[in-house]
Amino acid sequence: MSRVFNFSAGPAMLPEAVIKKASEEMLDWNGEGMSVMEMSHRGKAFMSIASKAEADLRTLMSIPDNYKVLFLQGGASQQFAAIPLNLLGDKKTADYVNTGMWSKKAIAEAKRYCDVNVVATSEDSGFTTIPDFSTWTLNPDAAYVHYTPNETIGGVEFDYIPDTGNVPLVADMSSTILSRPIDVSKFGMIYAGAQKNVGPAGLTLVIIRDDLIGNAAENTPAMLNYKTHADNDSMYNTPPTYSWYLAGLVFEWVLQKGGLEGMGQINKAKSDKLYAAIDGSDFYANPVEVRYRSWMNVPFTLKSADLDAAFLEGAAKKGLATLKGHRSVGGMRASIYNAMPEDGIDTLVNFMNEFAKENS
Ligand SMILES: *Cc1c(COP(=O)(O)O)cnc(C)c1O
Repeated sequence: MSRVFNFSAGPAMLPEAVIKKASEEMLDWNGEGMSVMEMSHRGKAFMSIASKAEADLRTLMSIPDNYKVLFLQGGASQQFAAIPLNLLGDKKTADYVNTGMWSKKAIAEAKRYCDVNVVATSEDSGFTTIPDFSTWTLNPDAAYVHYTPNETIGGVEFDYIPDTGNVPLVADMSSTILSRPIDVSKFGMIYAGAQKNVGPAGLTLVIIRDDLIGNAAENTPAMLNYKTHADNDSMYNTPPTYSWYLAGLVFEWVLQKGGLEGMGQINKAKSDKLYAAIDGSDFYANPVEVRYRSWMNVPFTLKSADLDAAFLEGAAKKGLATLKGHRSVGGMRASIYNAMPEDGIDTLVNFMNEFAKENS
């Protein structure tokens, strides 16, 4: 059985080199005589794995010293509640930008805790663009501004960081973290479920500025309080140790690829190639405004939805897996995170060209 090019939106492909390394170390990590899965999170061996991973992530993203990095569980979805619980302080409202399905989920959850001011929405366009920043109705008294830099389902991505002045900016980077350079100092908080660009499911990264920790609402569960985890180096309880270790291997791999600069160049080239194939034919289409097209998730439709099943079947024969689009958008979606090799893009583009020729 050979490995396929897996275009899944998440859990997604991991770099083959990472899986190989993990498999070599599966039974015996570094002479410890046990798997990382079997180690105490408080033992020396795992502590060294954990701190190396954090140090490498800090290097990769140039995370300033006044930010904590937390290795949590619960997924990005749990952060939708943790954010208002931790960041509202004595304020009662928060600003949210609505650019797609994940924004909407974050908004719906925040509404349980505060007045949500939707400062901009692209819903009218079917979430195919980003509302122009000049139209945002930002509230200077908001506790924070939340947005989703890359909408995984719609395939829409910000090409800039919104300037929210003194109001902390909070970003759900689940599907774009580590894909290109980013200035962390512009954010109050960044969070991401790991299973797209970081590692296996089960780990959630939170990168948060020190001054935003310690103001949680009275009734915040200890496990949702950033202070709990910051005070205990993410080891208040048992962290997702194996996912943390694998994330560490991914960070080493990204460093070898030239860090986020190198990764960004590769991702730009990969996505350019795929969009060129879509735009260069009248058989395929992508509805997103060109400027805001995602480098990570590329939805596209065929000339007729009647051909979708045949496309997926033919693709599978070429080792191109999980291309079926999200049910809300239809058609196809190629998620091309860091771990998708250029070879995968080439194989997909060749197949698309062939399929279009045969079915035109
Ligand atoms: C996948 C995804 C989520 C949900 O992540 P979970 O870890 O499954 O909770 C949230 N936001 C975005 C942008 C995503 O891509």
